[in-house]
Amino acid sequence: MSIEISFLGAARTVTGSKYLISDGKHKIMVDCGMFQGTKDLTEMNYQDFAFDPSEINYLILTHAHIDHSGLVPRLVKKGFRGKILCTKPTMELCKIMFIDAAHVESIELEWRNRKRVRAGKEPLDPVYTVPDAEECMKYFETREYNKAFPVNGFKVRFVDAGHILGSAIVEISYAEKGRNKRVVFSGDVGNERQEILSDPTKLKDTDYLVVESTYGDRLHKSRQETVKEFAGIIKKTKNTGGNIIIPAFAIERTQEIIYELRMLYDKKKLEGFTVYVDSPLAIAATEIFRANTGFFDRTTKNRMKKGMEPFDFPSLIFAKRADDSKALNEVKSGAIIISASGMCEAGRIKHHLKHNLWRKECNIVFTGFQARGTLGDAIIKGNKTVKIFGEEIAVNAKIYTLGGFSGHADRKGLLSWVSNFKSKKPKVFVVHGEESSALKFGSFLRKKLKLKVKVPKLGEKAKI
Ligand SMILES: [Zn+2]
Repeated sequence: MSIEISFLGAARTVTGSKYLISDGKHKIMVDCGMFQGTKDLTEMNYQDFAFDPSEINYLILTHAHIDHSGLVPRLVKKGFRGKILCTKPTMELCKIMFIDAAHVESIELEWRNRKRVRAGKEPLDPVYTVPDAEECMKYFETREYNKAFPVNGFKVRFVDAGHILGSAIVEISYAEKGRNKRVVFSGDVGNERQEILSDPTKLKDTDYLVVESTYGDRLHKSRQETVKEFAGIIKKTKNTGGNIIIPAFAIERTQEIIYELRMLYDKKKLEGFTVYVDSPLAIAATEIFRANTGFFDRTTKNRMKKGMEPFDFPSLIFAKRADDSKALNEVKSGAIIISASGMCEAGRIKHHLKHNLWRKECNIVFTGFQARGTLGDAIIKGNKTVKIFGEEIAVNAKIYTLGGFSGHADRKGLLSWVSNFKSKKPKVFVVHGEESSALKFGSFLRKKLKLKVKVPKLGEKAKI
């Protein structure tokens, strides 16, 4: 049989991961992510899928990040009735994330539609609603790491990607003219030596590889250096007064930061500070982490055996109610506020930026990727002012980017992960990166590993 892959998202851009695999008889999808960032990208979430969702037999999810799974409720709304397969934490995290995304969108859509109507355009229907988000969970089934399972004529296996809790690299095997063939989807490849998670699984054998390139053109500082820099920022803020605001993805990044702060607390480096986690989604996600400690790495499990509680220490407060969050607007000094969304596009982080960004004694610490066109991207690019809730806010606070906390492998990490495929040279498709990063990483792979590489465009198809 001849297999075709269609690249329907995250092609020469980071978000919207969506791949369709067809053998002529069956259609399987890998990931169904939302587009994020510029208006042109986000408008695509409202369009019809480039295929008929009712024809898809299976959807395989690599992990629960919105850019990989955020359009699942819409897929079901538009007629998908197959099975959605993923790990247990992915399913649990998806559930809280979809409901949150539907809420966030209803607020954003109201604002967007007002603008559209004023411009004489038709208002948009929501991408999906909270009932749609709840409905799609019926189609989920979980699978374990390292145990192959049948999907139509294919055999699929999840291995730990070390990127977020429950994240998977997906290996799909099939027979072609009596020969076994394989295609591997990297999903998002984790950064090595992260806390909580294991390192990404090294695989040795595949014919085709679809690999991410988020940081394909950049190197992170080491985790050790990053923690040192982070502790330095905290120390400096203690002397100058002011707050530290950390925009962080609700899932994984927030828990990693809490864990790091917990360790700094143990070393008495947090004196005079209170840490606030101010994101309902991050708080719900932390509960899911607490219920899935079996997915933690060995070091964290050992520390927990000795009584360490990773997401709990005396100066840590989870701001559960909206009033708790609002009260933080009055805090002028000594607060470390971890809030979402990670790219500052929605959620409570926008309030914290509005109240702290203009104050020169405050510090904004970015710990994750900022897609082009997002508020976070505007801030790290050094804009002197940014618009928040329609108001022009001066950027006087100090802006830091701590790449070492990233959940993604950098160029070196990606290269090293790809170089494990030694049994034969795979044909590589580079995806999930801004165009320049994907192209640079592609040429890097050609030069360093002598691989055949393609950087597909959106909607492009490839026979494998
Ligand atoms: Zn991800």
